[in-house]
Amino acid sequence: MRFIGGHTIDNGGIDMAARRAHAAGMTALQIFTAIPKFYNDDKSVRPERIERFRQALAETGIRPAMVQAHAAYVLNVATDDETKWGRAAAGLKKELERSTALGIGGVCFHPGSAKGSREAAAERVARAMTEALEAVDGATRLLVENTAGAGNTFGRSPAEIADVLRRIPKALRPRAGYGLDTCHLYASGYDIAASRDELTRVLDAFEEACGEPPAFFHLNDSEGELGSNRDRHALIGDGRIGVEAFRWLLHDRRSVGVPLLLETPEQNPGIADDDASPDPWNVRMVELLKELL
Ligand SMILES: [Zn+2]
Ligand SMILES: [Zn+2]
Repeated sequence: MRFIGGHTIDNGGIDMAARRAHAAGMTALQIFTAIPKFYNDDKSVRPERIERFRQALAETGIRPAMVQAHAAYVLNVATDDETKWGRAAAGLKKELERSTALGIGGVCFHPGSAKGSREAAAERVARAMTEALEAVDGATRLLVENTAGAGNTFGRSPAEIADVLRRIPKALRPRAGYGLDTCHLYASGYDIAASRDELTRVLDAFEEACGEPPAFFHLNDSEGELGSNRDRHALIGDGRIGVEAFRWLLHDRRSVGVPLLLETPEQNPGIADDDASPDPWNVRMVELLKELL
C-alpha cells in the first residue's frame, strides 16, 4: 500500500486542505496546525476546528495515521542560545499538543542550526523532543526531518539524526522517529538520482544508523544541484533529481505504509476558502507518481 499525499493549500481551514487532497487523488496529508512563521508556543487548536477536521478525514477516507503536521520553521531546538532554545522547545511541545489533539500520526520538524559541537547540538534537540514527549501523552510521533545542509543546520546525515534518536529515553523512543525529504537529501550531497543502487544505499545508511526505516518521505524534486545545500523544491521531473529516482523510491519496501508527501509548487495558492477543488499541479504530480507504481 502506497499512501501518496501532499501539503495541500489550507485556505478555509485544515479541513479544506483534507478535502483538496482527497480531490487530487491523495490518501495522505500534511498540514500546519498554526501559522508556521511564528513560534505559536501559546497556541492551541479550537475544539470546533478539531471536529471539522476529523469530519473531513472521515468523509474523505484519509486515515489519521497518514496525516502529519509540519512544525513551524522558526523552531530552532539545536541552538545554543538559551532564550531561543526555550521558546523553540515550548513551541515544539505545543506542536505535539495540537497534533495529538487532532489525532494525527506525527509531527515533523527541522532540528535547526548550531555553531560549535555537533554532539551538544544533538543533545539539545533530543532534550527538546524528550520534554515534549514527556509533557504530551498520546500516540502522535515526533519526527526529525533531514535538512538540506545549509550553513550550520543540524540533521543532515544518518549519524546526526541517529545521534538525536539514541538520546531519547527508552520509554519514549517509540514515539520518536525521522523522515527523509528527497530534495534535502540531494541538496545535501546524497546522489539519489545516480542509480537505484545508490538510492538504496542512502536509505540503508539512514535505516542502519537510526535502527528503523523513515516514518515518512517528502517527495520533492530539487531546483538546486547535488550538494548545493539549497532548499528549493521543484515539481517532480522539473528538477535535477528527475522522475526515475522517484520510481526507484516507490519500488523500495520503505515507501510502503508511510505518508509519501509532495511539497511541490502549487498552481493556485489563492484558491477561495470554500473551494475544495484540487490544485491542478497536485493532480498532475499524483498521476505521475501513480504511473510509476
Ligand atoms: Zn520540512
Ligand atoms: Zn525543503
